[in-house]
Amino acid sequence: MGIRQAKKNEGKINLMIRNGAADPSVDVSITPIYCVSCDRQLPHLYEHTGSRYGQVGTINCEYCETPIHCTDGDNIVYELRTSGFVMNYYHLYRLEKEIWITLKESYGYDISARHKGSTITLETVVDELSKEFKIPAATSRQYTSNDGKITMFPNVVVKWFSILEYFDLYK
Ligand SMILES: [Zn+2]
Repeated sequence: MGIRQAKKNEGKINLMIRNGAADPSVDVSITPIYCVSCDRQLPHLYEHTGSRYGQVGTINCEYCETPIHCTDGDNIVYELRTSGFVMNYYHLYRLEKEIWITLKESYGYDISARHKGSTITLETVVDELSKEFKIPAATSRQYTSNDGKITMFPNVVVKWFSILEYFDLYK
C-alpha cells in the first residue's frame, strides 16, 4: 500500500462493467497530485498502490516539501483526497455516465454490452474506438482540467481526451 512517484507515464485505469449498469465504475492507480501550498501540480504522476482504512500515504511536495496526505474512501479508487484538494476521476479523466450514454446512442459504442460483467482498462476502450473509427491517437496534445489546475495526465488519458474531442465530447 502507499503512494509513490510513477516510474513511467502509464498505469492502470480500470473500468468495471457491472451487469445491468450503463456505465463503468472506475478504479484508478495513476494520478496527478496537486499541492495547495505552492498552488501547482507536482511534476510527476503518482502511483497509488492501495490503502488501509482509507489511508493511502503521504508525499512531500516536490517543489515546497509540504507533506501532502492522501486518503481514499473505498476499495475502489474513484476519488483521491489530498491535503486541501479532491480528485474525482470521473470528472478529472472524463469518464462520466453521459459520455458513455452518448457513445452508445450516437455512435453505437456500447461498453456495457461489449464487456458486460468484466473489468477492462481504459486502454482497451481507446484501442477499440481508435481502430473502429480510425481516430489517430494524439499523445502530444496538452489538456488542462476544467479548474485549470491539472495540466499533466497519464498517456492513456491524453489519448482518451483526443478521442472525446473527435466525438465532440470533450467539453
Ligand atoms: Zn508545494
